[in-house]
Amino acid sequence: MNFENRLRMRYLFPVFLLLSLLCSSQRQKSVDFIKADANITPSFSDKMVKGRATYEFDLVSRMDSIFLDAANMTFERVELNGRKIKYSNSNQRIGIKAPRKLGNHQLSLSYTAKPKQTVYFIDVHDEADQSENVASNSFSPPYSHQVWTQGQGKYTSHWLPSIDDMNDKIEFDFTITADKGYTVISNGRLTDKTMDNGSGKWHFDMNHPMSSYLAAFVIGNFDKKVIQSSSGVPIELYYAPGDSLKMEPTYRYTQELFDFLEEEIGIPYPWQNYKQVPVQDFLYAGMENTSCTVFSNQYVIDSIAFVDKNYVNVNAHELAHQWFGNMVTEVSGKHHWLHEGFATYYAYLAEKEVFGEDHFYWKLYQTAKTLHNLSENEGGEALTDPNANSLTFYEKGAWALAMLREEIGEVAFKKGIKAYLEKYAFRNVTIANFLAEMEKVSGLDLTDYREKWLESEEFPWQEVKAHLKKANKPLKLFFEIKNTVTDTTIMDEQKLALLWENEIPEEFKRQFIFIYGNRIPDSNLSEIIANTPLRIRQAVALTVPKVPKELQSDFESMLTDQSYLTQETVLFKLWDAFPKNRAAYLDQLDGVVGLPNKNVRLLWLTLALLSQDYEPERQKSFYDELNGYTASHFNFEVRQLAFQYLHQIRALNDVSLRNLVQACNHHIWQFKKSSRKLIRKINALQDGKNQLLALREKLSEKERKTLKNVLSP
Ligand SMILES: [Zn+2]
Repeated sequence: MNFENRLRMRYLFPVFLLLSLLCSSQRQKSVDFIKADANITPSFSDKMVKGRATYEFDLVSRMDSIFLDAANMTFERVELNGRKIKYSNSNQRIGIKAPRKLGNHQLSLSYTAKPKQTVYFIDVHDEADQSENVASNSFSPPYSHQVWTQGQGKYTSHWLPSIDDMNDKIEFDFTITADKGYTVISNGRLTDKTMDNGSGKWHFDMNHPMSSYLAAFVIGNFDKKVIQSSSGVPIELYYAPGDSLKMEPTYRYTQELFDFLEEEIGIPYPWQNYKQVPVQDFLYAGMENTSCTVFSNQYVIDSIAFVDKNYVNVNAHELAHQWFGNMVTEVSGKHHWLHEGFATYYAYLAEKEVFGEDHFYWKLYQTAKTLHNLSENEGGEALTDPNANSLTFYEKGAWALAMLREEIGEVAFKKGIKAYLEKYAFRNVTIANFLAEMEKVSGLDLTDYREKWLESEEFPWQEVKAHLKKANKPLKLFFEIKNTVTDTTIMDEQKLALLWENEIPEEFKRQFIFIYGNRIPDSNLSEIIANTPLRIRQAVALTVPKVPKELQSDFESMLTDQSYLTQETVLFKLWDAFPKNRAAYLDQLDGVVGLPNKNVRLLWLTLALLSQDYEPERQKSFYDELNGYTASHFNFEVRQLAFQYLHQIRALNDVSLRNLVQACNHHIWQFKKSSRKLIRKINALQDGKNQLLALREKLSEKERKTLKNVLSP
């Protein structure tokens, strides 16, 4: 799912039911794990993790055995209070006999793990530092490595013997070893960095306990810039060395967002420092590991890309989780609203701070419309349903908070949030805990609210609409104009004037063009292109299916608009409509890369290859470049687009086909799925079938197996 520039897949899938079953014996807290010191050495060459974890725990009451989750690990040595002991290993958990003496003990485990998930070893193409967004001539290696982790939904016990249950909060201090030259980033404050046999040992210190799904590390080639919040919290912003010029647009407004959230939430940021790290082929848009957010490098953008795609919302969302989710953590998936609804809502508030009210209400209106449609078609879900989809947890969850604020008033709302966070700091919470605090501060009975907003599957659309109309004047106008336009109305001069001359914000006008664009006469479209800001013109570019002669020069004027989405759209539509001018259009955008998925460059290469008399001496290098982007060290969105274009022009060769076979096992399921689908499509064509047959000889055993598996009915 994709809300404009927000990738939906960023978010985790709540599968916590299972978790609470796993460690139920320890839920009664007969044993309390307090602190972990873990030495971790990941190895890129054999994709293994070697480690030694030392836990301090309190035995509160007598029990037979103590367990830790440990997936597919071998243990070299296990010690209790410094003495070697026996253990059982089920490949899911390691168990030891509990000591007889109550009180404080120390458990040390030396182990090796070969993680099938949770730890990801990635090849990364190193872009040369670009003075501007221009395609580099060398698209082949050098490339470097990244190792990163994703705990939530994937289980930290795949690389660290630990407790997957969110209800056990532990203070984790990590020491991580990596090859010289690489940077290590993990939870907490870097206290020391030492050299050992040519490797770097990085020591991190956390001040407070957290659930194990929030433990994380990243190893890679990074530079950083350190800024500070107004309250003095150090904020480290990481970036690949080649992306120094993208640092500012990528992290734009970070300090504003941070300061705003501290002020709005009413209690200081709970951790000792904050870091953000962009990594390649990340599973979601971002993950709020405690004090160490990891996000997709698809959000690393330049200034031009900012209008079409930016990190601001994800930035604020993951930061809000540092309070909602990390400091106070749900007891189980039934209370997931307390994480995602809150992070989404506070991210919207933070965006309102930098982008203004109209942007805020427009976004809320968009999500309300989606939720309303879903609810009308019997797709509505209760927020207390642990299996609800992300739209429910995130967007309905945000709406539930917006309406709670409306119901009890801003003063009580803020007071309640503060009281709730203070009371449950570094502990686990339920929805009932939260509502009790809100009832206390407001003096209101929230039973009806709970039923309507949290337990009902319906989305209260009428109430929401009334709220929007009351809160935002332009939205009220928008609804009024919408009512005057029927399905058959031609958007003539007079109707357009109504739309253009009042104070409707940009986003609303865009929406009108998306809905009614095909009913606006060309002469008026021409005026719109000439006289409106970039994002409204862009809507025209996206809406017009084929450029008529009358709009040719208007479209040509948009070819150099400062938006990669506009450039991509306009280049294709002009190239398609006016074959005689193809060379001129291509010349204008030669070298432009575009968004992080290289949208402009990949289209440009494809069109250049299709325009056979265009730069004949460069045709081979165009092809090599496009084909080269299918390699595994490019990020998956670039590869996905390159595969599609190459298939469309029937130009996949053995190299790119082999890359496609490899992509069929990619850890990002959407990419894996699209790659598998494309292989089947190719196999359905006679030429493609022959090509795949011939390719089989050149594949490794594993690749052959993959191909067979993909093609088996
Ligand atoms: Zn989230």
